[in-house]
Amino acid sequence: MRYANICGIKHRIIECEDKFNVDSHLGMIDYKAAEIRINKDMAQQVKEATICHEVLHGLLVHIGRDDMSEDEQFVTALGNAIYGAFHLREEMRND
Ligand SMILES: [Zn+2]
Repeated sequence: MRYANICGIKHRIIECEDKFNVDSHLGMIDYKAAEIRINKDMAQQVKEATICHEVLHGLLVHIGRDDMSEDEQFVTALGNAIYGAFHLREEMRND
């Protein structure tokens, strides 16, 4: 089982059937259950980017910036930028 640490709270990462039914929505975060659920039928990179996106929602909510978390365009852009930075680091490690 994989977990994400969001401000000290352990969130279980669960891969599940696509119940989201929206092309642009690949995952969700459940704050009460401390769970991140992602569509299991995605390429590995898309899964990682989706986890990054949901973690960012969680971080923003837990630092009291719900207003920023509700800005989906902002979360998508920053989530992809953070994912890209870590993905590049992985590639550099393999050079
Ligand atoms: Zn989102």
